[in-house]
Amino acid sequence: MYEVEIISSFSAAHRLRQYKGKCEHLHGHNYRVHVTARASAPEVDGMVIDFAHLKTITDEILERLDHHFLNEIKPFDEIEPSAENIAAFIFREVELGMKDRGPLLYSVGIWESDTSVARYIR
Ligand SMILES: [Zn+2]
Repeated sequence: MYEVEIISSFSAAHRLRQYKGKCEHLHGHNYRVHVTARASAPEVDGMVIDFAHLKTITDEILERLDHHFLNEIKPFDEIEPSAENIAAFIFREVELGMKDRGPLLYSVGIWESDTSVARYIR
């Protein structure tokens, strides 16, 4: 099995509505985003997927979140903007962006800090 990973980031504010504790208050994170794709064999070009292509797709989605208050934008106006939900949202959007290569997408990890990550895995 081969796995490729790109790393990107965005900054955003959020507050967790259903949570009692520090994170119920408005605060921000510099989120780090790890996106991985897997395949049992590379294509004839020797790649699972072009890093640049995967990075471009991911960054177009992150652009929609960057420097926003996540609670005010879809789908986080209705669901909690937790790292888990952000990971699942980015996974779905990247998969759509990958079109026919979407099945290669394996996981999206959202790092809220250097020590805390939530991953959505296919
Ligand atoms: Zn937070």
